[in-house]
Amino acid sequence: MSRPDLLARLALASEERARNGLLRRMRTITAIDGAHVVIDGRRLRNFASNDYLGLAAHPLVREAMTRAAARWGVGATAAHLLGGHRDEHEQLEHELAQWTGRSDALLFSSGYMANLGVMQTVLEPRAICVQDKLNHVCLLDGAHLSGARLKRYRHLDVDSARRQLEGDAELPALIASDGVFSMDGDIAPLRELSDLAAQQHASLMIDDAHGIGVLGADGAGSLREAGLDEQQVPILMATLGKALGVCAAFVAGPKALVDGLRQFARTQIYTTAMPPALAAAIRAALRLARDDHERRARLHARVAQFRAGAEQLGLTLIASRTPIQPLLVGDSEQALALAQELEAAGFFVPAIRPPTVPADSARLRITLSASHEEADVAALLDAMAGITRKLRIYHPGMASQ
Ligand SMILES: *Cc1c(COP(=O)(O)O)cnc(C)c1O
Repeated sequence: MSRPDLLARLALASEERARNGLLRRMRTITAIDGAHVVIDGRRLRNFASNDYLGLAAHPLVREAMTRAAARWGVGATAAHLLGGHRDEHEQLEHELAQWTGRSDALLFSSGYMANLGVMQTVLEPRAICVQDKLNHVCLLDGAHLSGARLKRYRHLDVDSARRQLEGDAELPALIASDGVFSMDGDIAPLRELSDLAAQQHASLMIDDAHGIGVLGADGAGSLREAGLDEQQVPILMATLGKALGVCAAFVAGPKALVDGLRQFARTQIYTTAMPPALAAAIRAALRLARDDHERRARLHARVAQFRAGAEQLGLTLIASRTPIQPLLVGDSEQALALAQELEAAGFFVPAIRPPTVPADSARLRITLSASHEEADVAALLDAMAGITRKLRIYHPGMASQ
């Protein structure tokens, strides 16, 4: 028999990744306090978390979870449609719809599952799915899973998207974009995309994983900030594991969409409902994300502090006004070396390398949080001052970014 061995092939793929300096390494955190984590016995200032509002350890969120666990137990014990749907889930869905100004909302156990579920439900093999090149991988996977034809347009380029649509004017079409791009921190041209969708009779889906809690009045996200309602952007997906500090996700929009998902979204139907205590924790986090304006202002002050400081150091950042502030390095090994230097100096800032980002665009992905003190950001900038010289040596041409 000459049948190729699948596991041997996998081992070869890992070896090749190691040879290219792209091996992933799991880091285990053994303690956490505020914006600090302990890794390998060292206390590091954490600039890697998506807990933008510092809600993951908030006393009210912890308390809500503990209280709900005492009331409901831990597991939901079944899928939503088969007895797993508790009052906590139901209330949360109402509150999410209300917060985002949508008619209805449906919970999913993760953002990844939500995007797969939406695409598989809404698309069909005859359709096209038009996506920004830098969309999160689960939007791309969702399109593949649906069988629709995936067409990708240049990052933020609405004309490029228009050309993709005009090339297939007779086919049903979905435009999908991140609201805030997860590895770049920049924001999609939301209004232009919504106009394009209307002109082209296409549906529009925005993944606001990094906008919810951060942008817009009451932290309701990038669509609130852009003033786009559910007629203009019918499909809103957002995650609850980033600024809300818990986990899971929801899709919100018109009744027909959400009812359709309840009927047909396989990644929602054929999976155990999230523990009700998580839903309770998310409800507490939602209230804080919506009402604690001072907390959000603190986050944006840290972002401004970081950008001003980085500019003074002569570092060139991507045009981002969100908590995601990547420092482009280019070469993967150099990005890794810089991350290691920062770690030696007491900072956890992971290097992001291909295939998570496009070839030759490895970076340090710095994320800011309301749980950072002004002094944390100042200390990071000090440490970065020490490596800027090297950055310039590594990348003399990077200033054009
Ligand atoms: C994190 C992320 C997701 C996935 O959400 P999870 O709840 O972590 O599975 C989806 N889209 C974007 C843009 C993300 O950044």
